Amino acid sequence: MPPALEISDLTRRYGPVIAAGQVSLSLESGQTLALLGPSGSGKSTVLRLIAGLERPDAGSVRVAGRDVTTLPPEARNLGLVFQDYALFPHLRVLGNVAYGPSMRGMKRVQAETRARETLALVGLSDLEHRRIGELSGGQQQRVALARALAPRPPLLLLDEPLSNLDEPLRLALRSELRGLFDRLDTAVVLVTHDQREALALADAVALMRGGRVIQFGAAAEVFAQPATAWVAEFLGQQNVFAWGTGAIIVPESAVVLGEGEPHTVVSRQITEQGETLKVAHKFGKLTLHLSAREAACVDGQTLRLRLIEAKVREVKDDREKE
Ligand code: ADP
Repeated sequence: MPPALEISDLTRRYGPVIAAGQVSLSLESGQTLALLGPSGSGKSTVLRLIAGLERPDAGSVRVAGRDVTTLPPEARNLGLVFQDYALFPHLRVLGNVAYGPSMRGMKRVQAETRARETLALVGLSDLEHRRIGELSGGQQQRVALARALAPRPPLLLLDEPLSNLDEPLRLALRSELRGLFDRLDTAVVLVTHDQREALALADAVALMRGGRVIQFGAAAEVFAQPATAWVAEFLGQQNVFAWGTGAIIVPESAVVLGEGEPHTVVSRQITEQGETLKVAHKFGKLTLHLSAREAACVDGQTLRLRLIEAKVREVKDDREKE
C-alpha cells in the first residue's frame, strides 16, 4: 500500500517570503499528523498546497499513490474542514452531509444512507432535520466533519478544527475527535498552534518554523526529545538553558529526590504556583522548574535532588537572542 499522503520538497514563495520551503512528509492510512508551529510558520500554506487551494513553486503531492500536484481540489478526493468551507445554510444537516456522495455520483437514497451512517459516526443522528442556523458551534463543527467524511476520502484535512470553540467544548470535542480518528482508516492532517492539541490528537507531529519543518516524528518522540532549544521551549519545556555554544534541556524526569548525592542542590522556593524549586548544580547556577507532584512529596525547606545526567540533553540553541 502506498502512503496515504506523500509530499516531497514542496516549496511556495510569496515574493521574498518562503511560506513553505522544501517540505517533505509522509503519512500512512489511519494515522493523524499535526502540522504544529507558531503563527506565520507555514502550516496553512502546507495544508492549502495539499488541498490544491494553492499551487507549489516546486515539489509534489501524492495522495494514496496518485500524483495530484496539478489537479484542482475537487479532483483530489480529499475531505476538507476549512474555515472558508462554510456549511450550506440553505440545506438541512442531512442535505449538507449527503452533498459530497451525491456529487460523486451516488443516487439520492444511497447518498442519504451514507450521510446517516456518517452522522451516527459523529454522534449527530438526532439532528439530521435541523437547519444549520439552529445548531451550536460545536454541532456545526461536527456537521462539517461529517460532510467531509461522507465520501470516505483516503485523506482528511483539518484547519485549526477546534480554534473557534470555547475551552470546555474544545476539550470535549478534542477527545471525541481522537476517538473518531482511531476508528477511521482515513489519514488525517490537521493544523494547530496548540501543542497540547497536537499531543492529544496526533500520532505524528511536523514542527514548523519559518516555512521549514524542523522536526518530524512520532508525537511522543518529538515531545520527549525536542531537536533544538527553540522546539523544547515551543513545546512548553521550562528547563532550557544556554550552555557553552549550544543549550541543554533538563527534563523534569531528569531530577529525582535522592539522599546525599555528590553534585546537588538545594533550596526550595514557594511561589504562587507552589512548584518552583531553585536548584544549584555543578553546571552552574540553574533554576529548574519542577512539577508540583515532586515538590509536594517533601517536608521542610531543604531538599536533596539528584540530577540524572544521562537525561540531560545538549542541543543546538536556535532561540532568538534578545
Ligand atoms: P501559519 O498557518 O503557520 O500561520 P501561513 O502558512 O499562513 O502560516 O503563512 C506563512 C507565511 O507566508 C507568513 O509569513 C505569511 O505572511 C505568508 N503568506 C501566507 N499566505 C500569503 C499570501 N496569500 N500572500 C502573501 N503572503 C502570504
